[in-house]
Amino acid sequence: MHIVIIGAGIVGTMTAYYLVQKGVQVTMIDRHEKAGTAASRANASLLCYGQKSPLGTPDIWRKIPTVLLGRDPRIKIQKYFSPTLYFWLAGLLKNSVSDRYRLNYLYLSELVENSRELMEEIIAKHNPSFDHRRNGRLNLYPDAAALEKGKAHISLYAERFDIDFSILSAEQCIEKIPSMKDRKAPLAGGIFTPLDASGNCEKFIDEIIENYLIPSGLFHFMPHTDAQRLVVKNGMIEGLMTDKDALVADHFVLCNGAWASEFLRPYQIYLPVYPVKGYHIQCDMPDGVSLEPNVMDTYSNTVAMQLENRLKLSTGFIFNGFNADVPKKYLVNLKTAAQEIFPNLSLQNITVNKGFRPYTPDSLPIVKPSQKIRNLSYNLGHSMLGWTLAPSTGKQCAEQIAHFYGLPP
Ligand SMILES: Cc1cc2nc3c(=O)[nH]c(=O)nc-3n(C[C@H](O)[C@H](O)[C@H](O)COP(=O)(O)OP(=O)(O)OC[C@H]3O[C@@H](n4cnc5c(N)ncnc54)[C@H](O)[C@@H]3O)c2cc1C
Repeated sequence: MHIVIIGAGIVGTMTAYYLVQKGVQVTMIDRHEKAGTAASRANASLLCYGQKSPLGTPDIWRKIPTVLLGRDPRIKIQKYFSPTLYFWLAGLLKNSVSDRYRLNYLYLSELVENSRELMEEIIAKHNPSFDHRRNGRLNLYPDAAALEKGKAHISLYAERFDIDFSILSAEQCIEKIPSMKDRKAPLAGGIFTPLDASGNCEKFIDEIIENYLIPSGLFHFMPHTDAQRLVVKNGMIEGLMTDKDALVADHFVLCNGAWASEFLRPYQIYLPVYPVKGYHIQCDMPDGVSLEPNVMDTYSNTVAMQLENRLKLSTGFIFNGFNADVPKKYLVNLKTAAQEIFPNLSLQNITVNKGFRPYTPDSLPIVKPSQKIRNLSYNLGHSMLGWTLAPSTGKQCAEQIAHFYGLPP
């Protein structure tokens, strides 16, 4: 059996990983030169096993005026005249109602926990080198009310999923991260979850492809190959037209992240995946300084973490279609936030990266067979947690396909 995977990010790679384990011949294509160069390269590198949340929280309603006035530090809407975006935002609001939010959070937590177990299996089996650190995560809160809300949020599922957490005072937070000693931004305390981890997603993809997929003899990667059109007849794909050759296979899996909706539109298939831009800067870590837990500063909405000898700072939920620009003032704001968190760090040798999160209104991935085209499956829409979730959804997608074709489990 031969399967073509469209899109070689972390999701395509994990889908290939689990399909090859079932003895399936896999061809994975990507329009880029290398796998893992879109959102999978741009991400903040966090494996969010402890602290996570769907974007649509019940208090999102209160944020609407601030967002519409452009005053939210993190969420920016720049493309106001877009019916696709309005439709998507309506879905987001629908999913922010308490009951829906709880269900989404519960399902997300299940996927995350499953992914964590699978990632441990992968590490035990292949020992990939990807700067993996089981270093925990510290969420910082500027005032007592925000800290209390954070506590209520994590308590919702902490017991059910055995998530250990501790509430730290401002002094205890600074003890954990001494480079925050002269912090100017307000700090009431923090929530620390030891379960959270981090790692270089792009490096992980390279390792899985080079050390497992290629040696399996069942896998072929086609870089610089743009999937342009499906040739569909009687509800079946007969071939995939690319800018190079036409590809024929028994089954196709769409793992093209933020580009899924536009790819499927010609077939009257509408999946609510919107490209939500995010960005990060990286700079050198000064000698003698290290950042042990990953940090989420809820005051500036900035994630800070250490990747080898570099400090990585990420933020931004920008709604502006596929416009890839990151205005200079946003980068200046990010640098200011970094200096507020770590006042004694000088930001040297800065690089910038950005990417489009494939966002769904409920922040949950879409992993299912197409209802319209029999030999097509979707594994996409991983929103802000694709690096964390990819093992779980890759396995789920491979199992659905195996079940459909009666392959051995
Ligand atoms: C700033 C930022 C921070 C983030 N932080 C985190 C984090 O800390 N933890 C976490 O778990 N997640 C995080 N995420 C989310 C995570 O990165 C994404 O959910 C994940 O990378 C999605 O993976 P993907 O494989 O679906 O998409 P992508 O990595 O975008 O891959 C899709 C691939 O499809 C290819 N493609 C698209 N269309 C075609 C076509 N027609 N033909 C051929 N190829 C095509 C693209 O070239 C691309 O390589 C973050 C994302 C961003 C942007």
